[in-house]
Amino acid sequence: MADRPRFGPAGVPPTFRALKATLIDVPRLLREEGLDAFEYQAVRWGEKPQIKKEDAEKFGLKAKENDVLLSLHGSYFVNLCGDKEIMVASKNRLIACATASEWMNAQMVVFHVGFYGKKPPKQVFNDCLAALKEVVGEMKALGIKNVKLGPETMGKLSQFGSLDEVLALCENVEQTQPVIDWAHLHARDRGRFKTVEDFRKVLVEIENRLGAEAVKNMHCHFTKVEFTEKGEKRHHILDEMGYGPDFAVLAKVIAEFRLNPVIISESPILDLDAIKMRDILMKEIKA
Ligand SMILES: [Zn+2]
Repeated sequence: MADRPRFGPAGVPPTFRALKATLIDVPRLLREEGLDAFEYQAVRWGEKPQIKKEDAEKFGLKAKENDVLLSLHGSYFVNLCGDKEIMVASKNRLIACATASEWMNAQMVVFHVGFYGKKPPKQVFNDCLAALKEVVGEMKALGIKNVKLGPETMGKLSQFGSLDEVLALCENVEQTQPVIDWAHLHARDRGRFKTVEDFRKVLVEIENRLGAEAVKNMHCHFTKVEFTEKGEKRHHILDEMGYGPDFAVLAKVIAEFRLNPVIISESPILDLDAIKMRDILMKEIKA
């Protein structure tokens, strides 16, 4: 849970890679940039953690030393509403991610719930709900208590994950927290965020359905996004004109509600845009 607004990149920034930094150097480098969150990318993982327990623990300690709050982005190969075989593998992948998160003291596993395929949305919802409950049950049985599962709002119309669907899952399953990907919502609803009121509506909806704490400590992704009639197409950097949403408008609402969100930059220039967003919010809070 964030104690203040926190910012960081989704994965190791290219600038760090250019320095030949290894994972263990990342928390220190983030601190040097004045960033304080990091989303570890486990997006290609299979059914077993692809980091050694010892390395995950070392990384977690370094993050703690440098006051960097960790989350973990789970495997892209998850589909909780797929065929039986896919569903079983998806559950195992989420358990692998939750296990590694517990090792590194990451507070949540962010994940994409699935695809509608040819099933009706209501059935898809019920299938996902049942599968998610099983995953949480298994996490409990394994003694994984400190990690939440974070279903993400998704940007393509073929993907399960409207705001309503994500909130409904979280209303019905314990040990979950919604992940609000603002770019995805913007793309899914083809440009919905223009005014302060457009952002405020989402926050009010989360608060009404999941309570004040859920909105105060929300976990977010942010980048500018290009979209078509099918939804998300590609991410753009903050300085690129002609794309939304505008972080400065969201910053006004974060300051107004006095929120402490974790904001993960998914911009093509990861950390550099995280710094930019942090500065925009700090200016807004001071004003
Ligand atoms: Zn994602």
